[in-house]
Amino acid sequence: MTTCIFCKIAAGDIPAEIVYEDDQVLAFRDLNPQAPLHALVIPRKHIATLNDLTAEDEALVGRMYLAARQVAGEAGLATRGYRTVMNCNSEAGQSVYHIHLHVLGGRSMQWPPG
Ligand code: C5P
Repeated sequence: MTTCIFCKIAAGDIPAEIVYEDDQVLAFRDLNPQAPLHALVIPRKHIATLNDLTAEDEALVGRMYLAARQVAGEAGLATRGYRTVMNCNSEAGQSVYHIHLHVLGGRSMQWPPG
């Protein structure tokens, strides 16, 4: 049995507020939102970090971005703007080791991020 929390969410074993799903990816609201829209797009396939992607995941990553665009668009942010972020390993702030694309929007943001 998996111990990965995001695999459990993908399997429906842990509840989450899902805002998008298809056969390969899903998106759900972050439990600790950092912006009015803060969703996480994850692949159903377990991939621990960005470093673990292989060439066969190329289309899957594209699917994640298309899902992010849809979630942001449905939140009315296509023109206003939004940010997508994927943290890789500890110094970048990765805390869950199943890749996830943060989709943040609904407020103005600073650059560079902290
Ligand atoms: O990039 P990082 O790994 O730090 O992001 C993990 C994100 O997963 C956090 O924003 C955290 O709030 C979120 N999370 C969640 N639901 C969980 C566990 C973590 O939304 N059950």
